[in-house]
Amino acid sequence: RAGSAPRRPTGNAPAGNAAAGGSYDRPWRQNMQGKQGAAGPGGKPGDKGSAGEKAKKQYSGPDQELAAMLERDIVDQGTSVKWDDIAGLEEAKRVLNEALVLPMIMPDFFTGIRRPVKGVLLFGPPGTGKTMLAKAAATETSCTFFNVSSATLASKYRGESERMVRILFEMARDLAPSMIFIDEVDSLCSQRGTANEHEASRRVKTELLTQVDGVHGSEKDKEPGPDGEPPAPKHVFVLAATNFPWDIDEALRRRLEKRVYIPLPGQAQRLQLLKINLRDVAVAPDVNLEAVAGQMDGYSGDDITNVCRDAAMNGMRRLVAGKTPAEIKALREAGMTGGQEPITSDDFREALRKINPSVSKEDIKRHEEWLSVFGST
Ligand code: ADP
Repeated sequence: RAGSAPRRPTGNAPAGNAAAGGSYDRPWRQNMQGKQGAAGPGGKPGDKGSAGEKAKKQYSGPDQELAAMLERDIVDQGTSVKWDDIAGLEEAKRVLNEALVLPMIMPDFFTGIRRPVKGVLLFGPPGTGKTMLAKAAATETSCTFFNVSSATLASKYRGESERMVRILFEMARDLAPSMIFIDEVDSLCSQRGTANEHEASRRVKTELLTQVDGVHGSEKDKEPGPDGEPPAPKHVFVLAATNFPWDIDEALRRRLEKRVYIPLPGQAQRLQLLKINLRDVAVAPDVNLEAVAGQMDGYSGDDITNVCRDAAMNGMRRLVAGKTPAEIKALREAGMTGGQEPITSDDFREALRKINPSVSKEDIKRHEEWLSVFGST
């Protein structure tokens, strides 16, 4: 099934509709109708009413606005990240493939003892590719991709986070197969301050746990359709990421059955990262990328991107140094661009001098300790 139909909403921005008319419409329903011919959870199967009608039946009052906001802020309109864009992390790619991608592509196989896991947790220092992995898994399956930052959810929808979580999972079920990526999950579901935890944040956690428990649909969802056709699988996969796994509530940790460590890149991966980052720029022949990678022990993927960006800027900096805007303009008109300057060893040296690793050794140690106790692939 996966890949056979556009799964992502492709219509106009419904948030605009909501703002203008106060009503929440779901234009993608029209795209989905031909394929599924089924109503949303609010309607009877086979009910072929208009998308808007069904949406109104399902969400009314403030829920309608929240659903529109969710779609605007959270439904990712199409990621183009591929597995090959991600350097290394082969084990993480394998786990995600088995836990998320394959169950979406061949759902019949993943039943009974082979039921898909409820959720996967990616943990590790910042800037190591967790978000990229989530996006690549979504691209691979063409599922509906909900890209949620817990910090946004907690701050932007303060007081409404609980309802937001419920609607988020409802929408995901409605548009299944879906993937809900919850970045910074620790801020939504931490065990910090358990003693005097705020009532509202306790309720958000409870709602999240309830929803994660129900991700693979109820028994009712498994009944055949009106014409006896097999039920469309309502798989909703939860993929969470955190830089602080030790802060995650135990109840949620248990539900995130696979817990995969995303470490800092090793030498081979750093070299691969350099090559990915420098795909579109010229590098001087004297630059030894292996040696550059060797000097970046302790750098995250994000740090390496920053080093490459800075080194790549140096050609342009050399070109414009000491010149007035008019002189630069004249140079441009003569066909000169900073991009033509190949990046030299000095450029890398200079960039490495300015940009230090952003992750501390203590942080790595803490992750490795957590991995040895709670890791699970
Ligand atoms: P995280 O979610 O772990 O904090 P991201 O996935 O957002 O990190 O990565 C941040 C940036 O770092 C990416 O946009 C990319 O430029 C770079 N990066 C990090 N890890 C990798 C990787 N393994 N392969 C390719 N690029 C990476």
